Amino acid sequence: MSFDVDLFVIGGGSGGVRAARIAAGEHGARVALAEADRMGGTCVIRGCVPKKLMVFAADLPHRVAEGQAYGWQRATTGPFDWPAFRARLDRELARLEAAYRSGLTGAGVEVLDTRATVLDPHRVRLADGHEVTAAHILIATGGRPDLPKVAREAGCWSSDDIFNLPELPQTMLIVGGGFIACEMACIMAGLGVRVTLLYRGPQVLRGFDNEARALVAASMVRQGIDIRTATDLTGIERLAEGWRVVLTDGRTETYGGVLCATGRRPNSHGLGLEELGVAFGPTGGIAVDEWSQTTVPSIFAVGDVTGRIALTPVAIRDGHSFADTVFGARPRPVDHELVASAVFTRPELGTVGLTEEEARARGPVEVYATTFRPMRTAFIGSEERVLMKLSVDPESRRVLGCQIVAPEAGELIQLAAVAIKMGATKEDFDRTVAVHPTMAEELVTMRRPVR
Ligand code: NDP
Repeated sequence: MSFDVDLFVIGGGSGGVRAARIAAGEHGARVALAEADRMGGTCVIRGCVPKKLMVFAADLPHRVAEGQAYGWQRATTGPFDWPAFRARLDRELARLEAAYRSGLTGAGVEVLDTRATVLDPHRVRLADGHEVTAAHILIATGGRPDLPKVAREAGCWSSDDIFNLPELPQTMLIVGGGFIACEMACIMAGLGVRVTLLYRGPQVLRGFDNEARALVAASMVRQGIDIRTATDLTGIERLAEGWRVVLTDGRTETYGGVLCATGRRPNSHGLGLEELGVAFGPTGGIAVDEWSQTTVPSIFAVGDVTGRIALTPVAIRDGHSFADTVFGARPRPVDHELVASAVFTRPELGTVGLTEEEARARGPVEVYATTFRPMRTAFIGSEERVLMKLSVDPESRRVLGCQIVAPEAGELIQLAAVAIKMGATKEDFDRTVAVHPTMAEELVTMRRPVR
């Protein structure tokens, strides 16, 4: 049977774009890609990229204050000009969006600016009713913010809205204690917003190493973020300006903005997949095997829509592996072992492998950890502390996990991840000569386990 294309990709985010480009550009497949929104997906348009630029913006007042303490007496910041920043941000995102598009067309991919749904295992329908047949279909539709009903009905902001605010509020309530809530709390506080963070559990960043979470939370409090743990929303009402909220501790308060960062869910429904018998996982993601193949053999899925690890580089790897496997005769299963990640709080938290708690749950473990005031900020009397930590298997000597809480921990953990992915032992770290004077040198100079 002949098809219009070899591959039809639904979704122009990180995973879909990589798969389409590799399939067409490197393996010569005939590929079409449909995207109903802006090209680039969550990462480029309303996630990693604009967030990281806001992290840089929010860091500058701290740097200026440091500069003053170091002797730059006239270093100063005025109020933050959000509209000016946003205008520059919008231009940058438009540039990246265009680069994504030209990367696709340059590789020979036909780009369709439309919504597409799946009609049968080899056919998709576009919004205008037009149908396209395909040997393979790749679902790469990502995820979207998941707000509790009460917050949705009151029109609270999700992370999608943050990048489009016409102005910053003076006060902001952030609901949730995960990646987005903690990152946004630090960003907004850095930009001059008074931030309250509401988390239903005992400590933010559940699932991360306990010692690392505690250090990040303490630093957030020092930045003036009012963290209220074991507290949730019971009611919320939209006012002419801002919101009035009622909390489980009985308090009623008003805020200029309310950001609900209570998780994301896969964009897996409404695509016609249920009708075809495609199976879904427990969190609503499309169930796939190690080849990203669904229960319908011609349909594959990569990235956040699968409900696996919701990180851009994972989606990119999944998309690349899929294209190499199906069109390049280079079978490559997805590898989700030892994926490093970073939370861009202030300071950042970088992690790879097991937390101390996870390592302990598996058996005996040696923990090497040190917290200290780093040179740059200790010099000016700051109480900020950093953490370098390794959990080691006492038998094999393999480093099972590494956590870094420090400025630029995202950059540092990337390099530690290479060694740990290669199977480095504690002795491999030990025989590596330190780079001095740095914070990260502590990773190769911790001589005795602390626990
Ligand atoms: P997370 O899953 O990280 O955090 C969700 C938070 O919301 C948790 O603290 C959770 O509490 C809380 N929560 C969930 N439901 C409710 C509810 N009904 N009421 C009150 N609180 C609730 O999700 P995010 O939205 O922060 O991020 C989504 C994903 O995006 C991340 O998991 C990550 O994979 C990715 N991401 C990665 C980033 C990076 O790499 N730097 C940055 C941003 C996002 P509890 O802990 O009790 O469940």
